[in-house]
Amino acid sequence: MNIWVTEDQTENLRISFRVKTILDHAESKFQKCDIYDTFDFGRLMMLDNVVMLTERDEFFYHEMIAHVPLTVHPRPKRVLVIGGGDGGTIREVARHSEVEDITIVEIDKMVVDMSRKHLPFVACGFDDPRVTLHIADGIRFIQEQKNAWDIILIDSTDPVAFAEGLFHSDFYTSVREALTENGILVAQTEFPLLSRNLIRDIFSSLNQVFPVSRMYLAPVPTYPTGLWSFGFASKGPDPLRDFNVQRAAALAGKLKYYTGDTHRHALTIPPFIRELLP
Ligand code: SAM
Repeated sequence: MNIWVTEDQTENLRISFRVKTILDHAESKFQKCDIYDTFDFGRLMMLDNVVMLTERDEFFYHEMIAHVPLTVHPRPKRVLVIGGGDGGTIREVARHSEVEDITIVEIDKMVVDMSRKHLPFVACGFDDPRVTLHIADGIRFIQEQKNAWDIILIDSTDPVAFAEGLFHSDFYTSVREALTENGILVAQTEFPLLSRNLIRDIFSSLNQVFPVSRMYLAPVPTYPTGLWSFGFASKGPDPLRDFNVQRAAALAGKLKYYTGDTHRHALTIPPFIRELLP
């Protein structure tokens, strides 16, 4: 069998996986979802032909979106995840015993259902008793939240269609109002090697809306260019100054990528990216 599946990552860049088995296909009013078993990367979820995650490399992204803010906030009790319907981000948040409430707001129930059916290694995140799932638009949901969340994680698709508003300054203002006193926002912010104008705009907005804003980086081999960025913004905590080494050490042995050293290294921004930041 010689079946290949391809994502057009940009107009001029593609990634292809050789497929062992086509596992499932579903469509919702928002998007279509395909699940494959691939030779080198295990199970693969695509939404509208864009790679969301693979079994082999999802840990880079999910560990980094969760553990950087969770080792920086002084008392993280209430965590809100917007997007992230596969469950990988909440799986990582749930490793922190001091967190009491994990709420996830995913717009598309189909993503949760497909993940539960085919991707147990990430969907296990939904099994934690502290997790509450809302099927709703995160942009609307956040507008009704005031002073409610210690950490908000934006685990979204790319800034198109119903996810586009998650990258706008108005949305970041609503997030700031939804955060408690020492609140932290972390958002996935795309690939700095090629998405340069987008990165400039996102970080300029974060810088205007929050007193503290920083970028950090992680490899995600199956995302465009392999080098991914995250926006960290807060009402006070700084990911370098306020990093809790003991909390990071307590995760040792449970994770594949995140450590205290990874944390510091991720926040070291090389010159070709530094020049995009305010
Ligand atoms: N890590 C992935 C990436 O960067 O490619 C993202 C994974 S996760 C599956 C992204 C989720 O965000 C999708 O399931 C999508 O339905 C959800 N999403 C997009 N826009 C949303 C919105 N406005 N409100 C809530 N969820 C949203």
